[in-house]
Amino acid sequence: MAATATGARAWQNWARTERVTPVRVERPASGDEVVAAIARAGADGLTVKPIGSGHSFTGIAVAPGVQLDLTDLAGLTRVDASTGLVTLAAGTRLHDASALLHEHGLAFENLGDIDVQSISGAVSTGTHGTGRAFGGLATQLRAVTLATADGRLLPISATENAELWPAARLGLGALGVLVDLTVQTVPTFVLAADEHPEPLDAVLDDWPNRSAQADHVEFYWFPHTRLALTRNNTRLPADAPRTPPGRVQRWLDDELLGNGLYEVLCRIGSIAPGTVLGINRLASRVAFTRQVADYSHRIFATERKVRFRELEYSVPLDAVGPVLRELDRVIEANGWRVTFPVEVRATAPDDVWLSTAFGRPSSYIAVHRYIRDDHTPYLAAAEQILRAHDGRPHWGKLHSRTADDLRPVYPHFDDFVAVRDRLDPDRVFTNPYLDRVLGA
Ligand SMILES: Cc1cc2nc3c(=O)[nH]c(=O)nc-3n(C[C@H](O)[C@H](O)[C@H](O)COP(=O)(O)OP(=O)(O)OC[C@H]3O[C@@H](n4cnc5c(N)ncnc54)[C@H](O)[C@@H]3O)c2cc1C
Repeated sequence: MAATATGARAWQNWARTERVTPVRVERPASGDEVVAAIARAGADGLTVKPIGSGHSFTGIAVAPGVQLDLTDLAGLTRVDASTGLVTLAAGTRLHDASALLHEHGLAFENLGDIDVQSISGAVSTGTHGTGRAFGGLATQLRAVTLATADGRLLPISATENAELWPAARLGLGALGVLVDLTVQTVPTFVLAADEHPEPLDAVLDDWPNRSAQADHVEFYWFPHTRLALTRNNTRLPADAPRTPPGRVQRWLDDELLGNGLYEVLCRIGSIAPGTVLGINRLASRVAFTRQVADYSHRIFATERKVRFRELEYSVPLDAVGPVLRELDRVIEANGWRVTFPVEVRATAPDDVWLSTAFGRPSSYIAVHRYIRDDHTPYLAAAEQILRAHDGRPHWGKLHSRTADDLRPVYPHFDDFVAVRDRLDPDRVFTNPYLDRVLGA
């Protein structure tokens, strides 16, 4: 019998864009307990939805019926250091996974900007980092175990129940509850990070080449400035010299400049928009000139304490220049004062049906607004531009797309829906967001 938390418990996501009080919360600690929780939900006529760390900006994790809290379903359950294949329980947080892998001389091949998410939540929404030769987290999966609506624990991989594999690797939480995930990891490596400002136009004009000039390239553009803050991370062997930021530098970077002082500046910008220009110029200059090297998981991910709202789309590589120039024009024409930077990344193409990088090398353009600012007009304008460039929205970040207008941008959209119809004909795992993006 699963440990059932008492009745309703109010939940809200990190970005404070979604809140719900589920009918009940359950904390299963094993695959069998997940199956039992699904059966109980079915018997009570309730939907069921697992949550990760609530870091999706969209309502994808909203669980009005039974919410599954997977805190007790965590840890490394199998490690093969010779092949790098490891199995993680579904609720494992990425930072815990990285620490556990490190003890075995292993690491994730690539990660996004933060690592507080659960492995399942990150994979299920298409979470990605940057790197022209590297895919998102779902591409690192080799197998999963899925608890299904009809009470099975189904192994799925390229060789077992293989027809489900391209859907189950990135399932939006719509197909069932992941119980464990087998990941192809790589030997521990060091990342050397080189961060410095460059003229924006030079970076935009050359982005398709420039994005491949180091292993992991990205840049930030603070609106109202002409600077791109570039970050180029190069992969080195595990025994390469490490020069992590010292305690004082780390405090300056992460606590003062990255979070504490930045929060104060964003608040000032929100109350007095006239100051934003100066704030962005200051942020561009002080926040970004450094060279450090450390184990990969300590370089890929940083802490984000200043809350914001975000929309991110993938577009073809050569769309970055036109999109950012158009966005610049729209921001200035509307007189918006935007403190948060626009972030640009790139990944390899993949063959995961609902991956934003399906079938094409992709750039990612993310626009953010500070939580106290009204994000709606800016994000809507950015979305309009990104849509016109054949964009696909990140499943975990704000967007307004529906099943009807997502179908044409995903060649296997209907194949995914067919898998959903087969695995969840009664829509036990649905919620309003999934009804919108996949159809009811
Ligand atoms: C500050 C911040 C920084 C971010 N940086 C990045 C970034 O660099 N790159 C990027 O791509 N994204 C980024 N994101 C988005 C984030 O990675 C995704 O939204 C991710 O899904 C969050 O993971 P989570 O554990 O919080 O999942 P949740 O938001 O809690 O859940 C997401 C989905 O996963 C499903 N799910 C959870 N567990 C299971 C399970 N066991 N079985 C089946 N489905 C499950 C949920 O039901 C839901 O549908 C960022 C978000 C924030 C707030």
